[in-house]
Amino acid sequence: MNGSTYKRCRCRDTTGRELGAACPSLHRKDGTWNPRHGQWYFRLDVPTVHGAPRKVMKRGGYATQAEAEGLRQKIDQLLAIPEPGPAGDQARRDLLTAIEKASRRARICRTTTRCAAATPPGRRSTRR
Ligand SMILES: [Zn+2]
Repeated sequence: MNGSTYKRCRCRDTTGRELGAACPSLHRKDGTWNPRHGQWYFRLDVPTVHGAPRKVMKRGGYATQAEAEGLRQKIDQLLAIPEPGPAGDQARRDLLTAIEKASRRARICRTTTRCAAATPPGRRSTRR
């Protein structure tokens, strides 16, 4: 799989640094994701021309794993359309720029703790 989904939260330690993956509340005792803490993110390896530095796209603020994974798959498929090579690489950069602009709402969501509350009630049914 070209990427993955994971959870993150905005918790900070006593010095004000974000805990990131180290937050103990992100996981339950059995090691599975805590459904009551954090928001879903995805990471996606962006295909680049041979020899170019590896690029990774990360986005988050999603209420469910299905939402994050669904978007990751869509972007993955979209980026696979242009042919390999410099022209295709430019097309992928343009696509990523367009996606960034079009999904600005998710970025705002990411900086708030009210993201899940802002999700329409009908979309919460996928929560476990
Ligand atoms: Zn946390």
